[in-house]
Amino acid sequence: MEPDLMPTGKNLLLGLLGYPLGHSVSPVLHRVAGESFGMNVNYFPFETRREDLGDALRGMRVLRFTGCNVTIPHKEEIVKFADHKSETVEFLGAANTLIFRGNSVFAENTDWMGFIESWKEEGMSGLAGKRAAVLGAGGAADAVFYALAMEGAGEIRVFNRTRERAGEMVEKFRERFPGLEAAAYSINNPGKINETFREFDVLVNTTPVGMSPAVDKTPVKIPDKINPGLEYYDLIYNPMKTLMVNELEARGIKAAGGLGMLVHQAALAFERWFGLRPDTKAMMEAGKRALQSN
Ligand code: NAP
Repeated sequence: MEPDLMPTGKNLLLGLLGYPLGHSVSPVLHRVAGESFGMNVNYFPFETRREDLGDALRGMRVLRFTGCNVTIPHKEEIVKFADHKSETVEFLGAANTLIFRGNSVFAENTDWMGFIESWKEEGMSGLAGKRAAVLGAGGAADAVFYALAMEGAGEIRVFNRTRERAGEMVEKFRERFPGLEAAAYSINNPGKINETFREFDVLVNTTPVGMSPAVDKTPVKIPDKINPGLEYYDLIYNPMKTLMVNELEARGIKAAGGLGMLVHQAALAFERWFGLRPDTKAMMEAGKRALQSN
């Protein structure tokens, strides 16, 4: 880092760019991440419109921010402001983390790795060779599909409300992972949904259906027959356990909510900014407390 861009003392500055931004758990996660290293991390959520992204980045750099996170709806748009992109950002066309170094902006995507780390931490089985299905085809689904493919899943199905969007996603991944068996369906296809519950090993919800305040909703109807070995992950973390997670657990299915992914993508971003691996257990506890007091 160039000397004139070094943050002053131990007061470190980070930002979050998105629009709109509701209540965010990220400031708490990064404060706790910094605490174990004696760092005073100040992480500010900045509700930023698309047309103001360039100015927001210039402002943060002048004020010696270390970097920022980027969330809905700017993860794609922000990439054009990067001087350097990781291979993943290049492929996905989306970034959730920017690192400011000297005169350069580096773009990284830690969502996919955050998903893998949380999946493992939840004690789920290895993904290699598995038959996996993803509900949703937005930015988060892209990261999860990438994670599943990188871990060697044998087959991946994508279900989406807008089927064409799922089809485009599958095409993009087929080019990058030629041996992968992949298919796209409408999420309103009970035949294929039921078959997936019966025969697949992994199911991941990346739609916002079931998120607070609509906690009585599930993204799909759970059928009577389910593969007893199915493992379910819901990216939603508010509530920490969605109705889908609760219902599947009640049926004896291993299921987890998305707070772990949020924590791990944050920890990986922290590591990119400061070169230090933070205490994810402490971050997880702080995240739970923050969500409970919401
Ligand atoms: P996004 O790009 O806006 O995509 C949303 C997806 O959900 C699209 O596929 C959309 O379908 C589908 N969808 C939206 N409303 C729906 C409905 N009522 N019924 C059925 N499908 C619906 O958003 P995203 O960035 O992928 O984020 C999705 C969710 O993941 C959010 O809840 C977000 O908080 C969560 N997330 C969690 C983490 C974590 O760390 N745990 C990380 C990233 C995201 P269409 O294509 O038809 O519009």
